[in-house]
Amino acid sequence: MRVSTGRANQSDSRMFHVVVEGFGIGQQRQAERVFTVPFSQLQSTIQTIARQGGVITGVFAIDGSSGNGADPTPAPAAETAAAGEAPTPATAPAVTKAPAHATPHAAVPVNTYKPKTPFLGTVTENYSLVGEGAIGRVNHITFDLAGGEPQLEYVEGQSIGIIPEGTDANGKPHKLRLYSIASTRHGDNMAAHTVSLCVRQLEYEQDGETIKGVCSSYLCDIEPGAKVKITGPVGKEMLLPEDEEANVIMLATGTGIAPMRAYLRRMFEPAERDKNGWQFRGKAWLFMGVPKTPNLLYDADFEHYLKEYPDHFRYTKAISREQQNAKGGRMYIQDRVLEHADEIFTLIEDPKTHAYMCGLKGMEPGIDEAMTAAAAAKGLDWSELRPALKKAGRWHVETY
Ligand SMILES: Cc1cc2nc3c(=O)[nH]c(=O)nc-3n(C[C@H](O)[C@H](O)[C@H](O)COP(=O)(O)OP(=O)(O)OC[C@H]3O[C@@H](n4cnc5c(N)ncnc54)[C@H](O)[C@@H]3O)c2cc1C
Repeated sequence: MRVSTGRANQSDSRMFHVVVEGFGIGQQRQAERVFTVPFSQLQSTIQTIARQGGVITGVFAIDGSSGNGADPTPAPAAETAAAGEAPTPATAPAVTKAPAHATPHAAVPVNTYKPKTPFLGTVTENYSLVGEGAIGRVNHITFDLAGGEPQLEYVEGQSIGIIPEGTDANGKPHKLRLYSIASTRHGDNMAAHTVSLCVRQLEYEQDGETIKGVCSSYLCDIEPGAKVKITGPVGKEMLLPEDEEANVIMLATGTGIAPMRAYLRRMFEPAERDKNGWQFRGKAWLFMGVPKTPNLLYDADFEHYLKEYPDHFRYTKAISREQQNAKGGRMYIQDRVLEHADEIFTLIEDPKTHAYMCGLKGMEPGIDEAMTAAAAAKGLDWSELRPALKKAGRWHVETY
C-alpha cells in the first residue's frame, strides 16, 4: 500500500483518500470504496474500517479538499479518537500494517474518466467468440482510446464502465455497467491505446417474454466506428502479482475469462512478452467452465500457449453439458477443482501462489464447497484458510 510520506503534523490540513475493500453491507462489501477524510480524522477512520472488517489497500494525500469522485459514498461516521490522543502522522501504524501485497499496486490508474465526463472511445472491432451450436452470444469488442487527455490507461485485472446510449424506463440516461478488461495494458495491437472486452448478451425469459440486457445488447450489436462512453478504469482486486515466479491459479466461468485472458497474454503472448519485459516463470493453471465446447472462449489461443509453454501452463476445462463428473452428473468447474484438490492445495501452500476467481456470482458456493472438501483432504480448514489468503492478497474474487 502506498502511504503519503510528505509533511504531516498536527495542523496538517490535507485531505486523504482511504481506499477500502470488504467494507459495508451487502453489495457494498464486494466493491472497492474510497473515503475522503481530513487528516484529523484519518486515524479514527482507519480504526473504524478495521473494526468493521474492511481491508485498507491505499491511503493517498490529495491536494485541495474535494473528493476524487471515485465513489460518491460519504465517509463513514468516523469515531472520535480517544480523548487527548494526538493525531498520528500519515504513516500511522494502522496504515503500515495493511497487507504488503498492496504496495506494488498503489500506482495503478483509477477513475481517469468518471460518469459525468466519460471518454468517447471508438469501436474498432466486434466479433463473436463462440462457435456454431453455442448457447447465447459472447463477443470480443475493442475500443480505440487514442487521443484521450488524459490518456485512459489501465492494467491487467481492472474493469471499465460503459454507458449505453439511450434512456431507461424513467427517461433518465442509462447508468454505467462494468466490464472486466480482456486485453493487456498494451492492447491487442500492442499500441497501448486500445481496450478489449468480452461481453455476453444477457437474455432471459420473464412472463413468457424474452428480455435482453440493455448494455450487453448495445455492445454485442455495436458496429465498428461507433462512439461509446467509457469510464474508469476501476478495480484493484484482480491485479496480477509482479513476481515473475508467482504461481497463478485461475477459476473462470463464461465471461469470467476476460481478466484471465489478459493475464495469459501477459504471460505467454510473444509480442506482449517482448513489450512488457515481464518474463513469467511460474506456473499458471486455468480452470475454465462453460456449458458446451463451442462456448469455450479464446480456446485456440490457450491451446497454443499450452503447446508453447507446457512447463508453465495448464488448462483444465469443465464442459458441463458434455462431460460427466465422478458421480455421473454434469461436470462443473468445482468438480475439476475437486479432482485436482491435492495439486491445487500443494500450490496454495506455496506463498508465491495467487488464486483468481471470476464469473457469475453463482459459481462461488460451488467453488467454496469444493475448496472446503479439498482443504479437508489435506487436513486444512478452508473457512480459516480463505480469509487468511484473502488478507495476504492471494485470494482474488470478482463475481457479478
Ligand atoms: C466488476 C464487474 C465485471 C463485469 N465483467 C463483465 C464481463 O467481462 N462480461 C460481461 O458480459 N459482463 C460483465 N459484468 C456484468 C455487466 O456489468 C452487466 O451487468 C451485464 O452485461 C448485464 O447488463 P445489461 O445492461 O445487459 O443488463 P440489464 O438491462 O441491466 O439487466 C440486468 C438486470 O436484469 C435482471 N435479470 C437478469 N437476469 C435475470 C433473470 N434470469 N431473471 C429475471 N431477471 C433477470 C436483473 O434485475 C438484472 O439486474 C461485470 C460486472 C461487474 C460488476
